[in-house]
Amino acid sequence: MLKLIFKPIIWIFSKFLKLPLWGQMTILIAISVTTLVLMTASFGHKADYMAVARQEGPMFVGRGGDLSDTIHIVPGDSLRLLAELGEMIWAETPDGHFRGVIPAEVAGNPDGLPIRSQKQDHKISFRKYLRIIDDPDFSMEKLYAMTSINSVRTTADSIVVVPNYLLLDDMWNMFRVSFTFNPDGSYIASQYWPTSFRRFVSAITSYEPMMGGSGWRAWLTDHFSWLISRPEFPAVSSNWLLSGILLNMVPFLPLCILLLLLAWRRPLYWMPNWVANLLIVGCLFFAAYVWAKLMLLRGFSFLLAYPVVWIITIVLAGLFLGLYRGLRCPRCKRLEHHELISSEVIGKKYKDRKGEAVKNRTHTHTTTGYTVHTRNGVEERREKDWEEKHYNEEVETWVDQVRIDKIKELYRCRHCGHERVKIRREESWLSREDTGVENRRTSKFKRF
Ligand SMILES: [Zn+2]
Repeated sequence: MLKLIFKPIIWIFSKFLKLPLWGQMTILIAISVTTLVLMTASFGHKADYMAVARQEGPMFVGRGGDLSDTIHIVPGDSLRLLAELGEMIWAETPDGHFRGVIPAEVAGNPDGLPIRSQKQDHKISFRKYLRIIDDPDFSMEKLYAMTSINSVRTTADSIVVVPNYLLLDDMWNMFRVSFTFNPDGSYIASQYWPTSFRRFVSAITSYEPMMGGSGWRAWLTDHFSWLISRPEFPAVSSNWLLSGILLNMVPFLPLCILLLLLAWRRPLYWMPNWVANLLIVGCLFFAAYVWAKLMLLRGFSFLLAYPVVWIITIVLAGLFLGLYRGLRCPRCKRLEHHELISSEVIGKKYKDRKGEAVKNRTHTHTTTGYTVHTRNGVEERREKDWEEKHYNEEVETWVDQVRIDKIKELYRCRHCGHERVKIRREESWLSREDTGVENRRTSKFKRF
């Protein structure tokens, strides 16, 4: 079974590694961009579908915290069905005054509705939330334009709206939020309540204040929200695969684009090699840093995210160095190895090297030391303290003559003639002279 899974993966990898660099980078970029398009298409999907209620039943509006409420639906009531949400249907009254979920049979089990993911969320930072409510122009209309609305409950003097927002504070804790508006849509108040606490993880990873942080994490949350949130309407069934690819590849996109441009040669022709190398290192650090943070924001635990990210990054960096170091021609900037033109011996050195091997070993005797424990002058017990084994050895000895050549190799770029000189040393064995057999006494000491 494992073989069935791993064989194709190894096959794909080996084919991938054999491709030229520009090919590899094009494939990686194409995969991330395709995923990006599919995922983006998943966001903001809206449905508009009218139906008449067939059965009596509840509509759950204002869910979460102390907002839980139900309204009663009776047969003949008109409903606008928005989407399927597991066993339930996401619906609203045609006047838009109430929105929530109803059991599917209340709407007569309709077909053809878009399927909304049950785990959808739209993550934003706590800082962004505070900015939203601090905006004097904030209104219900603005909120509707920013995200989708999970539930609406209307009374004579207020409208309570729960959007699809999930607030993340700087300690990775999550909150749901509701907004209360006047009937004319102007903002009155909002409240939030926690859905999860990850204090243990927070304690290790955070040094920032809990609420409304202004750090890098809030910035990452808001700018990469589309990456760490789960889309409402999965574009294809294996949505986890898409978002997994996206989450894990986007941090490496700058590196891939840089490498593709280097492989293309023309766009970065002007860039000296040291700058290119520095940029590559920079991109790798950026990838490792952002990747781990995104995984944490997505909900992976600290203990999983950091080791995975750093191990994979180090392996990638090693692979990369092994395959591509010194590849770029300093003159014509092509990514191709220089060709070996000639090699010439520029120096010779002769050296004698002594060698030996034990031919025969006989154990002659053992000496032992004891500690004697006594009580009232009477020996109680003896304890072995140390032991030394003595041997007679016959040792064969010899002297090898070796020659060390200093070789100068000349490499040349096939395209522009740029030359590189490499000096290396090569050792060759010439002859061996036996210098007889020596007798030696040796010993091995062991303490107990
Ligand atoms: Zn060249």
